[in-house]
Amino acid sequence: MIDVPGIFASNVFNDEKLRERLPHDTYISYRESIDSDQPLDIHVANAVADAMKDWAIEKGCTHYTHWFQPMTGITAEKHDSFLTPMEDGHVMMEFSGKELIKGEPDASSFPSGGIRATFEARGYTTWDPTSPAFVKDNTLCIPTAFVSYTGDVLDKKTPLLRSMDRINHEAVRILHLFGRDDITRVDATVGPEQEYFLIDKEVYDCRKDLRYTGRTLFGARPPKGQQLDDHYFGAIKQRVKAFMAELDEELWKLGIYSKTEHNEVAPAQHELAPIFTTVNIAADHNQLTMELMKRIARKHGMVCLLHEKPFKGVNGSGKHNNWSLSTDTGENLLKPGKKPEENTQFLLFLTAVITAVDDYQDLLRLSVATAGNDHRLGGDEAPPAIISMFLGDDLEAIVEAIISGEEYESQGKVVLNTGAEALPEIRKDTTDRNRTSPFAFTGNKFEFRSLGSALNISCPNIMLNTMVADVLSSFSDELEKATDFDAAVRRLIRKNLKKHRRIIFNGDGYTDEWVAEAEERGLLNLKSTPEALKRYTAKKNIELFRRNHIFSEKEVKARQEILLENYIKIIDLEALTMLDMAKKDIFPAVSAFTGELAETIARKRAVSENIRVDSEVKLLQKLSDLLSSFSDTIDELDSKVGGAAGYRKSIQRHAEYNATEVLSTMERLREISDKMEMCTAAEYWPYPSYGELLFSVQS
Ligand code: ADP
Ligand code: MG
Repeated sequence: MIDVPGIFASNVFNDEKLRERLPHDTYISYRESIDSDQPLDIHVANAVADAMKDWAIEKGCTHYTHWFQPMTGITAEKHDSFLTPMEDGHVMMEFSGKELIKGEPDASSFPSGGIRATFEARGYTTWDPTSPAFVKDNTLCIPTAFVSYTGDVLDKKTPLLRSMDRINHEAVRILHLFGRDDITRVDATVGPEQEYFLIDKEVYDCRKDLRYTGRTLFGARPPKGQQLDDHYFGAIKQRVKAFMAELDEELWKLGIYSKTEHNEVAPAQHELAPIFTTVNIAADHNQLTMELMKRIARKHGMVCLLHEKPFKGVNGSGKHNNWSLSTDTGENLLKPGKKPEENTQFLLFLTAVITAVDDYQDLLRLSVATAGNDHRLGGDEAPPAIISMFLGDDLEAIVEAIISGEEYESQGKVVLNTGAEALPEIRKDTTDRNRTSPFAFTGNKFEFRSLGSALNISCPNIMLNTMVADVLSSFSDELEKATDFDAAVRRLIRKNLKKHRRIIFNGDGYTDEWVAEAEERGLLNLKSTPEALKRYTAKKNIELFRRNHIFSEKEVKARQEILLENYIKIIDLEALTMLDMAKKDIFPAVSAFTGELAETIARKRAVSENIRVDSEVKLLQKLSDLLSSFSDTIDELDSKVGGAAGYRKSIQRHAEYNATEVLSTMERLREISDKMEMCTAAEYWPYPSYGELLFSVQS
């Protein structure tokens, strides 16, 4: 038995430990600075650093690192030792307030989208005191933001923190209009549910595609896939159970509230859900969770695949971003309460989210746009690329009544002619039925479901916080002028629900009818990553970011460029990996097998003209034809990859070229290979099959 309360957060230097270790006065002035977002006095910073160092050394640390999240999508660290030489030749373990607050990694190799000229390849990391430091691999890790020498944002944490300030400010502002002076702070809260695959390391090692690109580029469907649905919530295998137990323990030590774990729809697929927390901490925790999943899987002889679509024809992995707003008085602002139709404060926040999602569909869509996620969105397993909202029957009835009901305006009280005044508290089961919706209200939070499993959750939450803050701000502007507040609120709610009703869709998002209807409604359908990313620099979006002090125009452009570049690189890498596999392994294998078939035919014929060889001849004919078109398509892909050189001047067009020309040729090459795999003897096929991969963890 492990003592969960005993180990929980034991590797985290949280507020409690700081309070224990600092002199009382110093702790008070530290708290005051943090709570009011003021810079720390250097003496206080020194004391905090010293306490942190002592604790870390007790935990066996020799090094510290500023742990940050550059635009590469992974986390980065540069380790420094606490070791400080003394004049007398001895050494001391030291860590100053200055070192705690500011780091200076050589930043030249992190993507900056042209912001940082190489001659000033300097970036600064600054401590995020709201996310506690922790110990990992005998190193004290200090969560930090990363900016360039000139102050431009180069990471994902800085804009997230900025967006949190905005939503805090605007939510509090509007709550004060409701007379809620008891509330002084509002935080966005997030609980990300994480899906992943576990496969055996030995089979993984035999697949170049998985090792280089994280997904299988070839592979015919297995005879047994997910048709039986027997994996979902099925019994967890022993090896997986051991992995989960160790993962939980490590996560708990890091103060991460890992709570539920179960199998997912696809074979070898699993899910982990943590308990929600403040969004910047949730983002840090999710990065750590993904890192630990990979590491611990290896210890158990398995590999954790976080790619959004490792296997064609098998459900990919996503990440559900459960988002809400929580006050410092402990109130969830998206909780409808017993009578939501009378709860104008709730209805106003709901209206703000609906308005924001409609106005900034493109930003939500592009915040989840990656090469890997393109394989999921729009398939029959993940929400479509079209952003829409699902409210559930109860709430939708209320929204409809508000839009249509005159009484609502005139009587100053919601009286619903639909009979909805008798509605009980929003029933949870009516809100979670539609799994096809990208953005669903689930009882007391919104669940944004379009995220791919590998994504850093910062970007979608930057968008959510910013766009909702911006709408709330415009609401406050309007309401502050009103003489009759109650009437003005109701008018505002009705006006905006009417205007943005088109974003609400309760039907099946996987159907072709919805695609057509969405187009009629004027909703965006940004199918590929380059198409989505193009919208980053739409005028209204640049204005939004500027107005809310999230990004300057230069920073938005830099981000767009980094993401496009990243997309191009991924497709290039995949294409080159395919070519390598096709030429060096698959072609020779099929050629050898057809050679053997030919020999067999010849040998049989030599025995007697009467021995039938028609089946071998038929197979030989079929495989030879396939091999010939395989070879042609290899040449075609070769020239498509070379053809990209013509687009070097426009990164947007280059990305679009990769998304269309290169990807479609890759798909054709794969199709031929998969057909050949289906009729080539297993002993000739150079790679483990889908069946061997998906069912590699047997017990
Ligand atoms: P469901 O069973 O409907 O999926 P859960 O209660 O299991 O709902 O929650 C799913 C995820 O949503 C969990 O990660 C949970 O922590 C998170 N969550 C619940 N409430 C909130 C909230 N107020 N804000 C953000 N996330 C939340
Ligand atoms: Mg969920």
